[in-house]
Amino acid sequence: MPIDVVVGAGLAGLAAANHLQRHGVDVVVCEAGDEVGGRVRTDRVEGFQLDRGFQVLLPAYPELRRQVDPQQLRLRPFTSGVIAMGVDRRRWLTGPRHGRVALAGALDLLRHRPVDVAALATLALRDGLGPVSLARRRTTRSVAEELQHWRLSTRTVDEVLRPFLAGVFLDPLLSTDARVFHLIWRCFLRGGGAVPAEGMSALPLQLAGNLADATIRTAAEACAIDGTRVRLLGGETISARAVVVATDGSTAARLLPEVDPPSWHAVTTFYYAAPRSPLRSTTLLVDGHSDLLLNTVDLSIVAEQYAPPGQSLIAASVPGRADDALEPAVRHRLAQLYGTDTAGWRLLASYPITRALPVMRPGHRLCRAVRLGSGRYVCGDHRDTSSIQGALVSGRRAATAVLTDLGVHARRRG
Ligand SMILES: Cc1cc2nc3c(=O)[nH]c(=O)nc-3n(C[C@H](O)[C@H](O)[C@H](O)COP(=O)(O)OP(=O)(O)OC[C@H]3O[C@@H](n4cnc5c(N)ncnc54)[C@H](O)[C@@H]3O)c2cc1C
Repeated sequence: MPIDVVVGAGLAGLAAANHLQRHGVDVVVCEAGDEVGGRVRTDRVEGFQLDRGFQVLLPAYPELRRQVDPQQLRLRPFTSGVIAMGVDRRRWLTGPRHGRVALAGALDLLRHRPVDVAALATLALRDGLGPVSLARRRTTRSVAEELQHWRLSTRTVDEVLRPFLAGVFLDPLLSTDARVFHLIWRCFLRGGGAVPAEGMSALPLQLAGNLADATIRTAAEACAIDGTRVRLLGGETISARAVVVATDGSTAARLLPEVDPPSWHAVTTFYYAAPRSPLRSTTLLVDGHSDLLLNTVDLSIVAEQYAPPGQSLIAASVPGRADDALEPAVRHRLAQLYGTDTAGWRLLASYPITRALPVMRPGHRLCRAVRLGSGRYVCGDHRDTSSIQGALVSGRRAATAVLTDLGVHARRRG
């Protein structure tokens, strides 16, 4: 029986395999690691759930609803908006429906910076309610230039928007393509952010669970691809009709000379166990005053499953690859941000991730080719936007290309 091979069981590979299998194609997924998920995995340590790098799922990602059952993910929402720590004090920039403090924050901004409120409202209307084509419209601007273009005051940008968006794109300089900002902003406006109750790995696990038994082979690292033959570490070769390479972009470029390697943004997340919540809020706290931290949040308030009873799990992310030498400074800054003593907080783990997000410079191609010819295909977030949405959609696009080329549309199952 002819088969198709997917290399990599991250979100893109799982999306591709699901799409192929739903259409009656026999698929094998070769995954180098010991578990599925790629960059979306969750470790369980002493009763805590530690996502491998703090990340957020946007329920409004169009591809999420298409490919998974959001109910099964048991999503736990963050409060939409952020708390920004400015020079003088915390600014709550959340919707007024999130309580008196949030309302006070919104009114404060309205009183002191009405022009910013007008610009943000226009931006929200345009991105939240306008057609998606508006967000995708060609521009060669960076996010930093786009915020200037919208005439937002330097103070609002520096204290709130820059720290928030630096965390979204893992890009403190905001050099990311502004169209991606509009697309992601649109999803934030339409559905906020959330984490699955059982950790981010619930997403790939659901996708993997929808595949037929024995589809996925773990500890199966592809070391070379010759035509449509995949050679695994250890010597085994699998011959296939079609090969879909769904690894990260750098590995894809090593396996397939046709693919350009991406540049990367790096990030490090520190996880602390705290005896009690420092801020009983499900809102992301961003640092508008120092460049050290991207963001911090008490994940156990967002979803109680993230920590054992009686303890709190604090995530704090910093830009770049940081080692534990930076930890005391992070702890010190957290004490200032939360206004509490963090000396007794216990460092559970740190996750330095060099290849976290492919860089998307202005002019980034939002939809790159997935068909390489001669039975070879490529997918992954480096083909679309560097995000969960980008990975999922690229996987479906690659599988659709395979199906078209093999002429198997008519055999759709279920
Ligand atoms: C810390 C962090 C925070 C993030 N925050 C967010 C966020 O808040 N929101 C958001 O939307 N996105 C976020 N992202 C991005 C998102 O997680 C990724 O865009 C997405 O998971 C990429 O999926 P992928 O399938 O393209 O690649 P990967 O997840 O990299 O999957 C590739 C798979 O291929 C396997 N593989 C590699 N080489 C081989 C080989 N030779 N043979 C076989 N298998 C191989 C890998 O083990 C892996 O399983 C974040 C990422 C990180 C790391």
